[in-house]
Amino acid sequence: MGRTRAGRATYDGPVTVGTEHGAAPAGRRVLLAAPRGYCAGVDRAVVAVEQALEHYGAPVYVRKEIVHNRHVVDTLAARGAVFVDETDEVPEGARVVFSAHGVSPAVRAAAEARSLRTIDATCPLVTKVHKEAVRFAAADLDILLIGHTGHEEVEGTQGEAPAHVQVVDSPDAVADVVVRDESRVVWISQTTLSVDETMETVRRLRERFPLLQDPPSDDICYATQNRQVAVKKLAPECDVVITVGSANSSNSVRLAEVALEYGARASYRVDTAAQVDPAWLVGARTVGVTSGASVPEILVRDVLDLLAAHGFGDVEEVRTATEDLMFSLPRELRADLRAAGGDDPRPRRGDRPDLAVRPV
Ligand code: SF4
Repeated sequence: MGRTRAGRATYDGPVTVGTEHGAAPAGRRVLLAAPRGYCAGVDRAVVAVEQALEHYGAPVYVRKEIVHNRHVVDTLAARGAVFVDETDEVPEGARVVFSAHGVSPAVRAAAEARSLRTIDATCPLVTKVHKEAVRFAAADLDILLIGHTGHEEVEGTQGEAPAHVQVVDSPDAVADVVVRDESRVVWISQTTLSVDETMETVRRLRERFPLLQDPPSDDICYATQNRQVAVKKLAPECDVVITVGSANSSNSVRLAEVALEYGARASYRVDTAAQVDPAWLVGARTVGVTSGASVPEILVRDVLDLLAAHGFGDVEEVRTATEDLMFSLPRELRADLRAAGGDDPRPRRGDRPDLAVRPV
């Protein structure tokens, strides 16, 4: 397994039968979800901060957590990234990275007013939703943004058209929605929601507003959907499912919920292996493991090692999709790297045909 300084790592599994801890007791096994862990947007954002630190030197300011994972944030902070809540905490003229969750136009304007040099690591799939909001607002539609109130991504998207967007944060919240004209309503969503719950919210919205318009394509991103599909497949066979991911990671929390909804007898979310309670494993035969889109594989490896130490050394991968998407680094950073004779350090088309770097 390879590691990088921000804890990015690749686990070359599938998977072992028995381990250095000894042969697995008969019948005990781990079902390991695939895909799991880092998505293309998180990979791009983390590499952007790493490259900014390397190229410009510390400190590099980052507005909000670059991705919602404690380990990643702590690792980058140790290298010189300074995480702030708002741009007014960044010294005038300094360099600041916007996180993968995106920012509203008001945040961009505030950064500009302080002459900050920005590197925009907003995931391109979040940007796509922002553009939808702008377009629908220009058409003067009422926009119902399905998402979690207070989540950074939702604040950023809503900020694109605050007069037109209202947040619908659960199926039950549909009853409270008020629109100007029931024939001119469209829904969009946060990228990291439960697919099933979102569809239920849309169903209820359509009951109230039969002329509700759909977005042109899915807003829940490929990575969120793929990780949920994988966990749905393994959950019915599991006594326990352990999701690695932080509490503020929407897609990680959703994975733990989906596991329970699809038949796991118990479901837990942990930041790290240290939070796994051995009592959860008592009497279990099958343990499912997955991880959210902001989770480095090294943290999953630690959980697998811990499970092996408790007799769950037999690991079987349950793969439901193969992902090959990779986004190129933010434009501003790429330009500076190229001017200095450098480039995106990640595999390029030709080196790894399955990991083509796509311009955004
Ligand atoms: S979870 Fe989806 S939207 Fe969020 S950063 Fe990853 S790919 Fe982008």
